Amino acid sequence: MDSQWNGNFSRFDLVAKTDEHVRTVVQVRDIEVGGDEFVVMAGPCAVETERQVLETAEAVAVAGARILRGGAYKPRSSPYTFQGLGVEGLKILAKARAETGLAIVTEAMCPEDVGVIAEYADIMQVGARSMENYALLQAVGACGRPVLLKRGMCATLQDLLQSAQIIAAHGNSDIILCERGIRTFETATRNTFDIAAIAVLKAVSHLPVIADPSHASGIRALVPPLARAAAAIGADGLLVEVHPAPEEAWSDGKQSLTFHQFREMMHDLEPYLALREIPRRSRLELVASRGGH
Ligand code: PEP
Ligand code: MN
Repeated sequence: MDSQWNGNFSRFDLVAKTDEHVRTVVQVRDIEVGGDEFVVMAGPCAVETERQVLETAEAVAVAGARILRGGAYKPRSSPYTFQGLGVEGLKILAKARAETGLAIVTEAMCPEDVGVIAEYADIMQVGARSMENYALLQAVGACGRPVLLKRGMCATLQDLLQSAQIIAAHGNSDIILCERGIRTFETATRNTFDIAAIAVLKAVSHLPVIADPSHASGIRALVPPLARAAAAIGADGLLVEVHPAPEEAWSDGKQSLTFHQFREMMHDLEPYLALREIPRRSRLELVASRGGH
């Protein structure tokens, strides 16, 4: 690692790690993201029906997830596919929260929707395609809810931290960073999971960092191994797509786990969670704060 790397990141003074500010714990209802617990957020790509969401919420809660994910406003690459249920979807998520106690994370795509989404959501998701939507970053910066900021698929870690800085500069430092895979020349997976990003972000920023192995791989079978790698390298949690019948999902079925697969993934994570202590006291933190070799 060259001696410049921390210098570059420390420009983002509101989100960069310093000797005084080592760790931010984002409080979401009774859950601490970035604290000692490994926080798993799980649920369908999109809110489709009340039954689909309630069944999924129940299954992921029993398996140990703390937060329910599900898009009511969907950024779709085709204008002819399902675009999301909007406010109806938010109401379904709120019902699932009332029934299971799970907190809710859901995506906002434009500043105009931030107000209504913040009425229902516990965490506002900024998707990969919106990471550089500065009007949206400003709006979530002022919305009074924690933000899950996903890395753009062509964004460097500096770009990601720059976007986090914008949210923080608008008054909101409850930000969770998310590595969700980037575009590379490799086509075997939907995106390329940048595992080093987690270690770098944990070293240079005080913000919590989670991994999204679902969008990072696009392939169901790869989700559990990538989740284990993320836990071992020191991620603070996961964002995982789960669906009652992935083959029938209206979006991202190929990467969605069944309830059974999700339970198995959670079970198999256990030994890897114990390994999180090692990166926590790793030399990376020292290298970052000293800016040395
Ligand atoms: C999602 O979480 O469903 C999503 C659209 O993710 P991304 O923005 O990472 O593509
Ligand atoms: Mn998805």
